[in-house]
Amino acid sequence: MLSQALHEGWGLRMNKHILIVGGGYVGLYTALRLQRKLHRELRAGEVRITIIDPQSYMTYQPFLPEAAAGNLSPRHVVAPLRRILSKVRILNGTVTKIDHSARTVTFQPAEGSARQVAYDVIVMAAGSISRTLPIPGLTDIGIGFKTVGEAIALRNRVLHLLDVAESTDDPEVRRRALTFVVVGAGFAGVEALAELEDMAKHSTRYYRNITSSDVRWVLVEATNRVLPEVGPEMGRWTLEQLRERGIEVKLETRLNSCEGGHVMLSDGSEFDAETLVWTAGVKPSPVVNDSDLPLDERGRIKATAMLSVVGTPGAFAAGDAAGVPDVTNPGQYCAPNAQHAVRQAKVLADNVVRYLRGQELAEYRHKYVGSVAGLGLHQGVANVYGLKLRGFPAWFMHRTYHLSRVPTLNRKVRVVVDWTLALFFKRETISLGEMEHPREGFRAAVATTRR
Ligand SMILES: Cc1cc2nc3c(=O)[nH]c(=O)nc-3n(C[C@H](O)[C@H](O)[C@H](O)COP(=O)(O)OP(=O)(O)OC[C@H]3O[C@@H](n4cnc5c(N)ncnc54)[C@H](O)[C@@H]3O)c2cc1C
Repeated sequence: MLSQALHEGWGLRMNKHILIVGGGYVGLYTALRLQRKLHRELRAGEVRITIIDPQSYMTYQPFLPEAAAGNLSPRHVVAPLRRILSKVRILNGTVTKIDHSARTVTFQPAEGSARQVAYDVIVMAAGSISRTLPIPGLTDIGIGFKTVGEAIALRNRVLHLLDVAESTDDPEVRRRALTFVVVGAGFAGVEALAELEDMAKHSTRYYRNITSSDVRWVLVEATNRVLPEVGPEMGRWTLEQLRERGIEVKLETRLNSCEGGHVMLSDGSEFDAETLVWTAGVKPSPVVNDSDLPLDERGRIKATAMLSVVGTPGAFAAGDAAGVPDVTNPGQYCAPNAQHAVRQAKVLADNVVRYLRGQELAEYRHKYVGSVAGLGLHQGVANVYGLKLRGFPAWFMHRTYHLSRVPTLNRKVRVVVDWTLALFFKRETISLGEMEHPREGFRAAVATTRR
């Protein structure tokens, strides 16, 4: 079934180019395994591997809530691609078009004009972006929670708004500043809200005029449950926990509009909020729409259980951007999560090697084992292999699990050091929001000179 062309080329010792689009979970782990399995061919110049990604690092997304809360340094939740993948060429920029029939992609570097990059085998690992809806005002005040930039901007924002509330004597400004809305109660939404609420609660002790009960947190969820990843029982427990902490959880409720920060919900409630975090699902990276690769009904790249692209020799796909059949649950697809992404990367890399050698591809098979989630310092929830934990034991499991998973020993040590320091010193509660506008001070100085 598979084209033998590459196999023949391989035999002739031609230089084969494997191009990986995206350097996240799937991209990094696929390249790492290819680098190991093809080390002889790489050394002999028979094969080249390239990753294209706008960033020069892989983001360990499950640690973003802890980075937002200030428990982890932002630099320690990312893994530097060039350092880890010494045999792989990293190009920073975006793939804007894929013409698989011609085996080329259009590459737009960070600076300069776009160019064509030819390949023999493509690995689609471009992940996902926030799935938004055409809600009035959403683009004006909404922010996602998928990148380090977003996590740190939110941290700065929450702390900055505490400063605003403390310094104003206008009750409206104060109420608006102290109201935070999160839409979507999956992993990202619940963990981000729980960690930020915990941080804000801790920070209020340094303010004279703000108590923790002055800060309003609203979680809006369209379905009737939170955190489906940990199952119904632990989801219900999480809901109770959040409500006990004073967080308003509005189930079976939708965001109707948020123009100018005026939030209107489908349950009829209305209020003003300065901050709205949108975590209501993901959709594949838009590059999949500018390709000649087949897509499924949800707009993901149509993959086989072998992680090859359906009916498309030389193309492979996995992770959030791909619709991969879940062979342990016939008729269903693998959920978009790191648990699948890491394991798929391993099988995908092996299958790329098998493909190049003209061997039969292996099937990806993994039964979802449940999940762990952090809900703030010393608080968590877990349901893994049927073992249900809550509170401190779940939080401890969450940390040890993710520590074991974060790539490279170097990052693991840095993460442990961050956590250890946090045991002995109080949390950092400084807003460094000015880092988002580093030239403002200088511009103001120039303006003064002109006058
Ligand atoms: C806050 C948060 C917490 C999470 N917690 C968990 C958890 O506890 N457990 C769990 O299992 N999962 C968790 N997830 C989900 C998990 O992180 C994702 O499922 C996983 O990252 C998917 O891997 P991926 O390689 O498909 O995509 P990503 O890791 O997102 O990588 C995609 C890469 O492709 C790049 N890219 C995109 N478009 C292009 C383009 N056009 N050209 C070049 N490069 C491109 C991006 O820059 C990115 O680096 C969490 C997600 C979030 C946001």
